[in-house]
Amino acid sequence: MDYTIETLIPREAVEKRIKELASEIERDYKGREVIVLGLLKGSVIFMSDLIKEIDIPLVIDFMSVSSYGNGTDSTGIVKILKDTDFDLKGREILIVEDIIDTGLTLKFMKDLIKGRGAKSVKCCAMLNKEARRNVDVDVDYYGSKVGNEFVVGYGLDFLNMYRNLPYVGVLKPEVIQKYVNK
Ligand code: 5GP
Repeated sequence: MDYTIETLIPREAVEKRIKELASEIERDYKGREVIVLGLLKGSVIFMSDLIKEIDIPLVIDFMSVSSYGNGTDSTGIVKILKDTDFDLKGREILIVEDIIDTGLTLKFMKDLIKGRGAKSVKCCAMLNKEARRNVDVDVDYYGSKVGNEFVVGYGLDFLNMYRNLPYVGVLKPEVIQKYVNK
């Protein structure tokens, strides 16, 4: 597995950044009760590390939406595969995402949650591909900016693999090509 992946953000750097994000979130949400809403499956590793560092009362929930096929480019179509357990009306929602790319998924999520009458909606993403954005949406908190490369690890997959890598890596283009052209 190693020779197909280059380390982009080592584990220690991700963990350090998570602690910083958690203290920002803790400070901003002090005295409020937040629903931390993870988007399955990519956010789970980042989210579980993040919430352990946030020392305020919170509840967690999950949604699963799909905007990607089995390739590496956004289709623009967002479909709800699993909805929240909690009613979001009047609640403070912090969406947790693995990576914001075109921003389509996040825009869809923020509009949906606002439409359900949430009191506030913010997002915390592990990674931000800012240069790829094609809709106007705020990423309120994020760990690191990344470029155009396709990243895996720390929850992020390629064809459902690599989510368990304890660092963020870049999959070499020849590996992607091999599968995409099949
Ligand atoms: P967006 O709607 O912002 O274009 O896409 C967001 C979703 O696309 C992310 O939640 C993630 O599942 C997927 N995605 C975007 N860029 C990458 C990437 O570099 N690596 C992986 N594994 N997934 C990505």
